[in-house]
Amino acid sequence: AHSLEFHLADEEATSELGARLARALDSVKSEILEKGLNIKLVGDLGAGKTYLMRSALRALGFEGRVKSPTFSLLETYKVDGFTVNHFDFYRFEDPVEFEEAGFRENYGPGRVVASEWTSKAEPFVPQPDLTITLKNEGDGRVCDISADSALGNQVLEVLKK
Ligand code: ADP
Ligand code: MG
Repeated sequence: AHSLEFHLADEEATSELGARLARALDSVKSEILEKGLNIKLVGDLGAGKTYLMRSALRALGFEGRVKSPTFSLLETYKVDGFTVNHFDFYRFEDPVEFEEAGFRENYGPGRVVASEWTSKAEPFVPQPDLTITLKNEGDGRVCDISADSALGNQVLEVLKK
C-alpha cells in the first residue's frame, strides 16, 4: 500500500497511533542515521498535528515537555539514537524565510524532521518521505499516512503490522 487510513475516535487513539509511528521510525533507525527522514504534517488548526508528534516523542522516550513550535518555529528533541526536529511554518509570511533562517541545516542524516504548514515554506522545504494528513471526523479524527519515497514505503509496511 502507498497509503494507510486510521480512524481515531478520541485523543487516546491518536496517542496510540503516535506510539505506532514511533515504533515504525525506530525500525528504520539505520536509514534515518544514513540519510534522515522527513514528515509533512497536513491539517487545519486543531486537527492534531502537534498532538500526534507529542505522542510519538513520548513513545520514543522523550520525557520533557513537548511544546507546539508555533512561536519558536523549531523545537528539537534528542531521542534514542537520533534527533527529532519539529517545525511549524505557520507564521511565515514568505517561504524565502526558510532559506534566510538557514533551516535547511536541520535536515539530513540522523534527523527526523516533522513539519506543520510546509505549504508556507515551499518550494524551499525538502521533499517529504511521508505525508500525514489529519481531518475532523465527527468528534474524532481521520488520519491518512502516505509514502512519498522508498523509505516512506518502508515505514508504511511497518505501520501496517
Ligand atoms: P494542530 O497542531 O493540528 O493545530 P493540536 O495538536 O495542537 O492541533 O490540537 C489538537 C487537539 O485535538 C488537541 O486538543 C487534542 O487533544 C485533540 N485531539 C487529538 N486527537 C483527537 C481525536 N482523535 N479526537 C478528538 N480530539 C483529538
Ligand atoms: Mg500544531
